[in-house]
Amino acid sequence: MVIITLQRAKCIGCNYCVEQAAAQFQMSKKDGKAVLLHSTEKRGFYTLKSADMGILETVTKAKEACPVKIIDVKQT
Ligand code: SF4
Repeated sequence: MVIITLQRAKCIGCNYCVEQAAAQFQMSKKDGKAVLLHSTEKRGFYTLKSADMGILETVTKAKEACPVKIIDVKQT
């Protein structure tokens, strides 16, 4: 499994995560912050668990590109 977490409130809306992993991230037209698609929210942390290991490289690039370090990627 690939587990992606986004601490959304701290997003500065730079769009870098979308450039790296457009299948997982989109910018919200409402508030200009990133949305982690198909995620569930708990106390401000948005989490997506995916069995598709093929996304690991792109979401890791998104993690590395985020200037405020609010994207986390783990493998289980
Ligand atoms: S890279 Fe980080 S700060 Fe930039 S839009 Fe994505 S989550 Fe927000």
